[in-house]
Amino acid sequence: MHGYPLPENEIQRLTKLREYQILDSLPEATYDRVVRLATINFNVPIALISLIEDERQWFKAKIGFSEQDASRSTSFCAHTICQDDIYVIENALNSEVFSQNPSVIGDAHVRFYAGAPLRAPGGLNIGTLAIIDTKPRKFSDEEVWSLRCLAEMVIDALEMRSMIDRAERSEQRLIDAMESLPNGFVLYDKNDRLVICNQRYRDLYAKSADLMVPGAFFSEIIRKGVERGQYIEAVGREEEWIAKRLKDHNNPGEPIEQKLPDDKWLRVQERRTSEGGFVGFRIDISQLKQQERKLEQLAWTDSLTSALNRHRFMELAGKELDRAKRHNHEMSFMLLDADHFKQINDEYGHAAGDAVLIELVKRSTKVLRAHDLMGRFGGEEFCVLLPDVDAAGAARAAERLRKAVAELPFTFEDQLIKASISIGVATLAADEGLRRLMKRADTALYQAKNAGRDCVQSAA
Ligand code: GH3
Ligand code: MG
Ligand code: MG
Repeated sequence: MHGYPLPENEIQRLTKLREYQILDSLPEATYDRVVRLATINFNVPIALISLIEDERQWFKAKIGFSEQDASRSTSFCAHTICQDDIYVIENALNSEVFSQNPSVIGDAHVRFYAGAPLRAPGGLNIGTLAIIDTKPRKFSDEEVWSLRCLAEMVIDALEMRSMIDRAERSEQRLIDAMESLPNGFVLYDKNDRLVICNQRYRDLYAKSADLMVPGAFFSEIIRKGVERGQYIEAVGREEEWIAKRLKDHNNPGEPIEQKLPDDKWLRVQERRTSEGGFVGFRIDISQLKQQERKLEQLAWTDSLTSALNRHRFMELAGKELDRAKRHNHEMSFMLLDADHFKQINDEYGHAAGDAVLIELVKRSTKVLRAHDLMGRFGGEEFCVLLPDVDAAGAARAAERLRKAVAELPFTFEDQLIKASISIGVATLAADEGLRRLMKRADTALYQAKNAGRDCVQSAA
């Protein structure tokens, strides 16, 4: 028997070895270069790098040796791998362990062996670098040092390779994680250049997707995006919007909302990274915005006519009043009430009355300007606020409204319904509040009713 039992810790080592995949990752040329260097340096006919795998060891690179692998039970290198340092057999014939070894007594004619364990970080020997001669020889301290250095160079190369592998793997992991996010994700470095973003991010900014490339400056992406109409809110006030966007970006805090084309809305959340860059998330909140708008509509408007409800009208009117006072602008107010509406209901039915109210608001809106406010104050009573309109203008507007109702009969289920409105108009006086303004319009309306209805009365 020429074999020897494997020490206990060696078996543990072998199991752990399976976890090491780095051996395969080093280019073959690196191993070849080292063994070639070894034969020249030590002037030996044989040099090899062996790696351990299960019960055998195989030769990753070899010179002067024909075997592909060797059984661990008869191998010199199996001994080296159990060592902490260089293992030397100066004359195998004198060695108790190797004198009867097949490679000693056989054709290989091995006499001299010097092996260095290839020690991976963490202390695990994963292979060997060995030089072999067919005649006995001495191995000096300097040669020991030299062989040790060569082995360390192999490990350094392996370690470098393994670091690159690890870096590539973690980058791939980052990309996988990033791409699986349902939201847009972007990373900028401390110079505000784009490092990476996911496909979702590019999809959300369809008009500027091609600009989102590594190295692109944030400010450039924004500026070109504005030119291409990517940001709806920037239209018409481009420079101001860009300045604000860059300011928000440089002082990230609360999320901001961004309106994009096609009624798309994003929530933009930006955070600084530890290296001074930025990480950004984009969440599509278009649906949320639509629901929000629907809810606002429900909360702010009258469900029958879609005119503003009393509460919302008062809120907006209050703001308009403040604005008018601040800028010393004119402002007028109308109160209008459908005439003899009880009779219309009685004659044509409540549904017909409803249809008249709906149409009445429609006709009024057509006659009014976009920024005039119309609200429903009570059953068949409506109010209109006319910003920047003086008394004469208000009287004219009221007359247009009256005519729009009275001149054309309303229709409901093939019935023609004649309706009319009476209007009280008041124009904001100095030191007057909303309440008093409305009161004066109400008095004027009362006068219009008394004057025979279907007419306009301006307050004194
Ligand atoms: P006046 O010319 O004096 O204003 O007479 P009027 O009949 O319009 O006044 P009155 O206040 O007596 O009656 C208001 C009527 O408006 C009574 C009510 O049934 C009707 N009305 C109020 N709200 C609605 C509504 O939403 N739909 C319908 N169809 N009718 C309504
Ligand atoms: Mg009425
Ligand atoms: Mg009324």
